[in-house]
Amino acid sequence: MTYKPGSQVPESGIYWCTVCKLPARLDEGQMFPECENMCGRGRWELAPEDKPES
Ligand SMILES: [Zn+2]
Repeated sequence: MTYKPGSQVPESGIYWCTVCKLPARLDEGQMFPECENMCGRGRWELAPEDKPES
């Protein structure tokens, strides 16, 4: 599931840019920003949570 810049953050967490993988902590209700690296087609994806290796 990916989200466009300008759409609403559905849940608080760490998201990353699908192009450059730059992570950003975003809060529920915020708008997804443009990627700081100006990735033209960058979208946001919820980053995997830190979990013990399984
Ligand atoms: Zn990016």
